Amino acid sequence: MELVGVKQQKDLIIEIIHARINNVLLHGNFIQGPEVRELESRLEEYVGVKHCISCGNGTDALQLALMAHGIGAEDIVFTSAFSFFASAEAIAILGATPFFVDIKENTYNISPESLEKAIENNNRIGKKQAKAVIAVDLFGLPAEYDSLRSICKKHNLLLIEDAAQSFGGSYQKTKACGLADIACTSFFPAKPLGCYGDGGACFTNDDVIAEKIRSLCLHGKGSHKYDNIAIGMNSRLDTIQAAVLLEKIVLLEKEVHLRQKNFQFLYSTLNDKFTFQDELKGYQSALAQLTLRSQFQSREQILSTLGSHKIPHAIYYPKPLNNQLPLASCPSDFTPVAKKMSEEVFSIPCHAYLTEYELNKIASVLSQ
Ligand SMILES: *Cc1c(COP(=O)(O)O)cnc(C)c1O
Repeated sequence: MELVGVKQQKDLIIEIIHARINNVLLHGNFIQGPEVRELESRLEEYVGVKHCISCGNGTDALQLALMAHGIGAEDIVFTSAFSFFASAEAIAILGATPFFVDIKENTYNISPESLEKAIENNNRIGKKQAKAVIAVDLFGLPAEYDSLRSICKKHNLLLIEDAAQSFGGSYQKTKACGLADIACTSFFPAKPLGCYGDGGACFTNDDVIAEKIRSLCLHGKGSHKYDNIAIGMNSRLDTIQAAVLLEKIVLLEKEVHLRQKNFQFLYSTLNDKFTFQDELKGYQSALAQLTLRSQFQSREQILSTLGSHKIPHAIYYPKPLNNQLPLASCPSDFTPVAKKMSEEVFSIPCHAYLTEYELNKIASVLSQ
């Protein structure tokens, strides 16, 4: 059994992937080949956003989004205390300061209420100016963008969606990557839309910002290759990865649907014993991970039971970001929920390629 199903998916599509990669070998445009722009327009269409700019990985996408908005050493960026390290690392690498905000116990996403308090706190006693919020769609579930948008509007803050885990998810009629001023995603193999290496992209409706990102990801390129107008990065999606993604995007909707179906089954058999991440009304999670916790049994006990039945599992994330050593001196809200979740949650398989036998096994082992 696999936790995410990357290998099973690959076995299913290996021939068509070979053909796609072979095509790139034949035309030989390994950097910025035709598949890159083709993929970008496919993703623009899928998400319903005007510009998709691909880049080297999801962390770079966050950094590019911040750079394009001029965020740097003088600025504060609020983000969730419960995420993958990169959500905060992209802020810190630019010399800006991450300000950690607590999450909600039912969704594991940034709490709009705590965000308001953190902003007011920073306005009162902070030494730096608040500029932006990075909201993370944790485990595939979009954050609460209606509330976040109105808070950001009130305080004149840029709203960034870290959609690294939520590609394929949605809120009402809007797809993840279309829910904020700018969105960033990752094509790391285990993400909902993954390639066979590193990859990422930014999404925005803003023409000026899109053009800035297109320049920044190519060393701050100006009118031609050897004209540089800014200090940028070297961050491009390889043509081969774009070719892989053009095949993978075809599978995405069906896979999200199958993951939702598996989730419904596991929820209906296990929800009296375990607490699940709440999909609020109107939200659809991409289910990058199915993450649970128990009020009745210790996590250690549960993981050891799963281990003895060879059911793969993982802990996302064992430490809140404000407890990570390189971020420990950053300003932070009081974050008891992030801490509690880091001690209680664990993730189990819920991918599209689980067999009925495997699903039943997960359900029966966890209901023991
Ligand atoms: C994976 C991930 C990233 C970073 O993406 P990479 O492509 O690995 O750089 C950023 N934020 C979150 C929430 C992630 O899960």
